[in-house]
Amino acid sequence: MPKKKQTLWLVKDSDKAINWCQCKLSVAGRFPQANCPWCGCGWLLSCAFCRKCFTFGRFEWFDESLEALAKRLATAARGPRVDDEDVTEMARFMEWAAEGFEAGDRVVVIDYQLFRVDEHGPFEFEGAFARHKLDVLPQVRELEEPGTLVATLGDMEYWVERELPDE
Ligand SMILES: [Zn+2]
Ligand SMILES: [Zn+2]
Repeated sequence: MPKKKQTLWLVKDSDKAINWCQCKLSVAGRFPQANCPWCGCGWLLSCAFCRKCFTFGRFEWFDESLEALAKRLATAARGPRVDDEDVTEMARFMEWAAEGFEAGDRVVVIDYQLFRVDEHGPFEFEGAFARHKLDVLPQVRELEEPGTLVATLGDMEYWVERELPDE
């Protein structure tokens, strides 16, 4: 029987660049970004099961309804305290994040936005924290020039200099 294509969501694509998750199947949770995007939370994905971060994600079909998968991931994140609201929020987030992507798309996150790794720059956009103008995705550049990812997106100055004004 062919695998049912129910829900499109993000798994870890590879252990390249930065990867701390050792799960057998790593599935992304909500983006970990807090008020310190430079620490990595603004440019890494995080595994819903172990909460450890990784760099490269890939959209895949899950043979589970959106609600069932959202419940599984929200439960992994919140434990037994999970409630219906957590599940609804997770499902909304997943629908929003997956919009416009297809199975097999490889992606990275920067400042709460996903980009396909084969997309060509320049990347000019306003994220949740800052305004960016990048010729190449720093995560992709890292594969050719190790160290450059932490030197750019991992630099607090980079973010502070580009910070959006408070509304
Ligand atoms: Zn952070
Ligand atoms: Zn994990």
